[in-house]
Amino acid sequence: MALWFAYMMVAWCAGTSVRCETQEIDVRREDRLHWPGGVVHYSISENFTLQQDEWIRKAMNMIEQQTCIIFEERPRTSYYLSPKTLYIMTGCGCTCKVGYHRYGSVLRLHKQCFKRIGHVVHELLHALGIRHEHQRFDRNYYIHINQTAIRMPYIRNFFRRRRRLSYVCNAGLPYDYGSIMHYPMVGFSKSRTQPIIFPIVPCAHVGQRKRMSSSDVARVNRLYACTDRYLGDNIPGAVPYMEWQRHVQKLRRLQTHIKCWRRSLLSPSMHRNTPQYSSMLQ
Ligand SMILES: [Zn+2]
Repeated sequence: MALWFAYMMVAWCAGTSVRCETQEIDVRREDRLHWPGGVVHYSISENFTLQQDEWIRKAMNMIEQQTCIIFEERPRTSYYLSPKTLYIMTGCGCTCKVGYHRYGSVLRLHKQCFKRIGHVVHELLHALGIRHEHQRFDRNYYIHINQTAIRMPYIRNFFRRRRRLSYVCNAGLPYDYGSIMHYPMVGFSKSRTQPIIFPIVPCAHVGQRKRMSSSDVARVNRLYACTDRYLGDNIPGAVPYMEWQRHVQKLRRLQTHIKCWRRSLLSPSMHRNTPQYSSMLQ
């Protein structure tokens, strides 16, 4: 009996710690990817042509007009990178690490990225912490991926995200074929005759790079709490913003309590001062 009790205690504690970790990854990590106060400090390289420079600013304007994000230019620093700044540079491909990084972020744009303004908007949205639509956890209900057609160096761009990231980064919004964050059918394919992405809904068009879709706009506004802007409550299948926000707040509070509770495991005297955690974990 004593052995069974000891086993159950170990199993329960182990299960709880896994849960703690999961919740922490969900909300805290996502929160840290957002620019503080929705203000993006940026610097544009001098190597862009005047027209390219203008396109980058135009793309920023498109985001500013529909969201509460503010882009603020910082003076160019030639010799070193200042922290907490988005550096927009020329380079190979159109790439940007997702989200805010306190040691600075780099967004690279090749001249091919200026074929459509949407390519620049796509990368700027990555800088804001927005991920690819076709990598959502639930994407298998909406698209098929032909893995054999993917060029090997780009295979990571088609990995499906983990379930635990879904609720926060999807922002309670349904899958959107029209998202500017969705890849086209043949993007990164070995051949243009060999598509990678097949939408399950017949005739659904993917990979547009003209404008942010309604759900792109709503996602930014929800993640940055732009409550006076469009929040996508009228999108069919969307979780109402207030409901989504309440749930995310609950996860944040739960994390705080879990953190206290984990400390209390190390120090039994602290346990008496903490609330009822068992009910919060259910
Ligand atoms: Zn991308």
